[in-house]
Amino acid sequence: MSAIQARYFDGKSSAARETSLELDAQGVLRVRGEGIDCSWPLAEVRVSDRIGASRRYLDFPDGSKCETADNDGVDRMFAGQVPAASNLLPRLLHRWESGLRYALAAAAITVAAAVAAIFWGIPALAKQVAFALPASTESLLGRDALAALDHFIFKPSRLPPERQEALQKLHAAMLADLTAGRVGGGGYRLELRAGGRAGANAFALPAGIIVMTDELVALSKDDRELEAVLAHEIGHLRQRHILRHVLQDSVTVLLIAVTLGDLTSLTTLAAAAPTLLLQAKFSRDFEREADDFALGHLARRGISPEVFAAILQRMEDNRPDGKDAPDFLSSHPGTRERIERATAKR
Ligand SMILES: [Zn+2]
Repeated sequence: MSAIQARYFDGKSSAARETSLELDAQGVLRVRGEGIDCSWPLAEVRVSDRIGASRRYLDFPDGSKCETADNDGVDRMFAGQVPAASNLLPRLLHRWESGLRYALAAAAITVAAAVAAIFWGIPALAKQVAFALPASTESLLGRDALAALDHFIFKPSRLPPERQEALQKLHAAMLADLTAGRVGGGGYRLELRAGGRAGANAFALPAGIIVMTDELVALSKDDRELEAVLAHEIGHLRQRHILRHVLQDSVTVLLIAVTLGDLTSLTTLAAAAPTLLLQAKFSRDFEREADDFALGHLARRGISPEVFAAILQRMEDNRPDGKDAPDFLSSHPGTRERIERATAKR
């Protein structure tokens, strides 16, 4: 067997000396260099694990050691030795690190982990944060969101005071019903607004704020239809969908920005925050949750789900034109599917 070159440290000083290591037929390792000549049974020599191209260390019983870059030589030398179980992981690590196949597998796992984080990890995290957020923080967010919308989109409601009062009563009765049924629904408040380019619409904002537009009130044929829409929005509020959505989007943008090293998108994110609230395209899961809540409420009140289907259909038919119009129905994907679900629950 050919000798391998190594640097020898006597364990007493930091000085390194060039040596050669050679294994004889009896399994004895001979270390030779200037002023060095010692032999150790190979079984008594401890060798460090092979990890990539990093240097290996051979520890001798007297505290001296050798360092070598000749990984293959070391492997050949110790080939007859049975590896301890504890060596298996480092050996696997080495194999993974050195094989292109493994490198590709590692890359695929990284991408899959990032995708999983975006689809499952971030939503789960956003849910936790949304429910853990202090009430004071949430009410600030809600106040700011409403102020921004009042500034850019909405105008004060032009409904006659007695109509506004009637709608507030309807909303209060719903909350009382939810509380009585122990469904929970305290602290939600209804804000009536002229919708501007938001058209016939309703929104659930943070801090339990529901905005309903005059146009939606005009579009309805029956207050039970408005009750159905209110119940849907309450469903969003109960699950804190808007907060979760904004948190999810923000973290996703952050993750992508950091991954791509494109930090300019962060300024865009900050500037876009108020718009995010309005154009929130809730996932189908969120919509289903809100719909289920609305349908449950209607069932408890003995109101036909047809009522909900009817207002959904009329909103679909009256959706505002124009790209920048915040679009209630685009934020409510699959209107047809939802109408069918609603009517299937009869
Ligand atoms: Zn919705």
